[in-house]
Amino acid sequence: MTLYVCGVTPYDSGHMGHAFTFSIFDVLVRFIEAGGARVKYVQNVTDVDDPLFERARRDGVDWRDLADRETQVQIRDMTALGWRPPDVMPRVSDEIGHILAASTKLHTLGYAYRTDALYFDVNKYRGYGRLSHLSHLSMLRKLRHEDLLGTVGPNAKRDPLDFALWRPSAPDEPAWPSRFGDGRPGWHIECTAMSMHFLGKQIDIHGGGRDLQFSHHESERAQSESLTGKKPFARAWMHTGLVRYDGYKMSKSRGNLVKVSQTLQRAPAAAVRLYLVSHHYRRDWEFNWDGLARAARFIEGMRKFLADEDRSARRTAPPGRALMAEFNAALADDLDTVRAVRALRAAVRQRDAAAVRAMQAVLLGTASLT
Ligand SMILES: [Zn+2]
Repeated sequence: MTLYVCGVTPYDSGHMGHAFTFSIFDVLVRFIEAGGARVKYVQNVTDVDDPLFERARRDGVDWRDLADRETQVQIRDMTALGWRPPDVMPRVSDEIGHILAASTKLHTLGYAYRTDALYFDVNKYRGYGRLSHLSHLSMLRKLRHEDLLGTVGPNAKRDPLDFALWRPSAPDEPAWPSRFGDGRPGWHIECTAMSMHFLGKQIDIHGGGRDLQFSHHESERAQSESLTGKKPFARAWMHTGLVRYDGYKMSKSRGNLVKVSQTLQRAPAAAVRLYLVSHHYRRDWEFNWDGLARAARFIEGMRKFLADEDRSARRTAPPGRALMAEFNAALADDLDTVRAVRALRAAVRQRDAAAVRAMQAVLLGTASLT
């Protein structure tokens, strides 16, 4: 089983939106592996990206140092939240060779053309827009809204939906030599190159935040299938909902981020993780501190129950069949973690220590109960 999840651009790591996505995929990995299969899990680090360079410029730091620091923040947070780390966390800056090879092949095959940059020609791919179910007009609107529209013209893009595979770097940005001129990769090509490098031409599950569905995943799919001729590039796509705070999507620009480190000051890691996975992965939801406090009370009750069981000399009975069947059915049904959390609550109520431990291992990973 192979899983590729789009990771962070390491400049504002460590907020609850990221933690939600990566905790959800951790439940998926642990659920599949508890069933006896092995998951090969790749999560990339986008350390070559406009927002990262802008932040480095603003703060007067080297982009590599900023990327290193923020990647460490993400790993520290997710380790606290008990994840089973991805098998590989490749960085764009280490994968330039594979990215250039993919870009060159797309150019050779006639899917890309060169003007002021090397662009992917979306009109050569049948079905651009079908993954995100967006009309042509909605795609254009979304690109404009995200400031990714760029310029159309004889020395630029042919179609506003075309996107750069390789582009010149600004003077203070890193540049790598290539047959397309010194420069750096566009955004989408990295995930095509890395998923193929580590997982092959087709992957079982591709995940990421829902804001990546268009244009990022739409473009990844178009590139990958054009490159290999193999369809589908991903057998399943899983997009996680957005986390709001104070009524708006958490974002650095709005300044309404809730950091994982802030939540860990107020509650045990297992409570933070339980609070996150108490929401269905596909839905948007709003973070609130009361919800976290309720999760913390439940975790404290569960911790006391398990500690009592450990102290008693009782031989542990095997987990209740009905409880485990309900738990597994919930996760097998489009990863319904909301229902799985209800099964965990029922196991605590019924004082079934073995079932509680089995469910804890999947839902909460190795997150600490204290
Ligand atoms: Zn990606």
